[in-house]
Amino acid sequence: MKSLKFMHLLLFGAITFITSCSSDSENTDDTDDTDDSSDAVSTPLSAFDEFNPDGVTVSFDGDEITIESNGIPNHTSPYWEVDNPLYIDPVVATRLTPGFMEERARSYSLTVSSAPELANSGTATGLGAIGIAVTGAPIFNDQEGNNQPIEEQIVETFDYAGAHNGPSGYHYHIESSDVPENTILSFDDEKLVGIMADGFLLYGRKEADGSYPTDLDESGGHFGVTPHSDGVEVYHYHIINEFYFGSVIALFAGELQGTPNTIM
Ligand SMILES: [Zn+2]
Ligand SMILES: [Zn+2]
Repeated sequence: MKSLKFMHLLLFGAITFITSCSSDSENTDDTDDTDDSSDAVSTPLSAFDEFNPDGVTVSFDGDEITIESNGIPNHTSPYWEVDNPLYIDPVVATRLTPGFMEERARSYSLTVSSAPELANSGTATGLGAIGIAVTGAPIFNDQEGNNQPIEEQIVETFDYAGAHNGPSGYHYHIESSDVPENTILSFDDEKLVGIMADGFLLYGRKEADGSYPTDLDESGGHFGVTPHSDGVEVYHYHIINEFYFGSVIALFAGELQGTPNTIM
């Protein structure tokens, strides 16, 4: 891509030079100029209808999309304070990390390209938010600390949403559980999970037609149609249909295949 872009710049420069030097140039319908990004496909805007309107604001500004969230999800959890209407006794967690959702929550802001492109190489994710889920809470990777992958003792603290509280608030690490209390989160389906820092959307384990994708890259990504793309093939991630360990399925354990933007 880099060399292509460079060549295009050269070409564009040459055309500009030619047209500015010869007023009778007939090369006026050079439609190539507006299409210098061969693999860039606009993110389908209907996907943003899936985000929790109480906690997430999405704004569109030219070729950028900004997702702002208060970090507070719209589903039940034992991590709410007991007097919160969304509080429930734990149904999956056997041990809770300290703190309540309300007191720990912080806001998040992510600005991405409206037509993100694959990068030349992947970028490893770090600790902290690597994406924003449709509920408004952040998506974390498969690490609970530096060089500390999620392990059984950590999994004990996850609620049915696959999340727990941390020093900077409530966040998801793994796929949600199939329990009656879980009414909105993706579990073994095609639902939208959220948007990653590189601007690509993350879906559940299945395609819109109910099948499991078979051509995913190491990050769970591929080009294909999504429930929102109106038949257009866009690059998107899936939760990889494979146990991280035990029956635990990580939300996103690979590298970001686009260019990560900072989640502030
Ligand atoms: Zn965590
Ligand atoms: Zn897909």
